[in-house]
Amino acid sequence: MHKIGIDLGGTKIEGILLDEKFRIIQRKRVQTHQENGYDSIVKSVTSLVNELKTKTNEEISVGICTPGVTNVNSGLIENSNTQCFIGMPLKNDIENALSHEIVMENDANCFTLAESLLGAAKEYDIVFGIIMGTGVGGGIVINGNIHKGSTNIAGEWGHHTLRPYGNECYCGRQGCVETYISGPALEKRWLEITGKKESLQSIVQDLSDEKLKQWKKEFLKNFGIGVANVIDILDPDVIVLGGGVSNIEFLYDEGKNFVYENVFSDNINTPILKNHLGDSAGVFGACLITDKL
Ligand SMILES: [Zn+2]
Repeated sequence: MHKIGIDLGGTKIEGILLDEKFRIIQRKRVQTHQENGYDSIVKSVTSLVNELKTKTNEEISVGICTPGVTNVNSGLIENSNTQCFIGMPLKNDIENALSHEIVMENDANCFTLAESLLGAAKEYDIVFGIIMGTGVGGGIVINGNIHKGSTNIAGEWGHHTLRPYGNECYCGRQGCVETYISGPALEKRWLEITGKKESLQSIVQDLSDEKLKQWKKEFLKNFGIGVANVIDILDPDVIVLGGGVSNIEFLYDEGKNFVYENVFSDNINTPILKNHLGDSAGVFGACLITDKL
């Protein structure tokens, strides 16, 4: 059986067609037009799947990696940073449009599964994956299987409370990790401190003056406490970082030190690794979930 994996992101929708040995047959990327609304995104996904389907004569499985969590009872999406998905029966709607069964999973879970089986965490049993991009998410993979939790929210690291009464979050609560260390949150904080609107990429190029130091220290502290909380509870064998923010090199040395300082034990050596699959973790993860679930 061949596999189609779709990574449904806030800015792009990527699709891949793999053969049974995970070799790429076809790959295609289209823009996500959030401004055109939910129906147009469902339509883009279906036409991408249908286009990939024409490239093989084999039977196919379809896996979709999406922001947000599907409520186990209602089938509706919750806590998605692509906010037009919230409250929508996304899986049902795509299945109806395709007339084909699909497997759908949260993007951070797909990322963690892909890095566990094919990427940076191949050698490790208990893996915590973190995506820091437009949003922040986490996933837990144990011995090659996603640990989903009893209500499907295991690993939802981006919405654990870092600071009570802190920044407002779209999820309706305050102080979530995502409101401090997502790409947009970091750029917003930079604007507050310096009055300059700059991209994260250009901000981290030179962090020598005092304002930059303040921004970096806050960032490292928030990252350090957030990741230390995970280690205290899960004590994973490895932590893998993904998403645009994971390209910041100081997370792997200074960032790691902040994490270790905040962990309950002083006997800590959990590796914090950069992902290996880059942007491809989503599509590969989406293919892998059709084997795993
Ligand atoms: Zn939140």
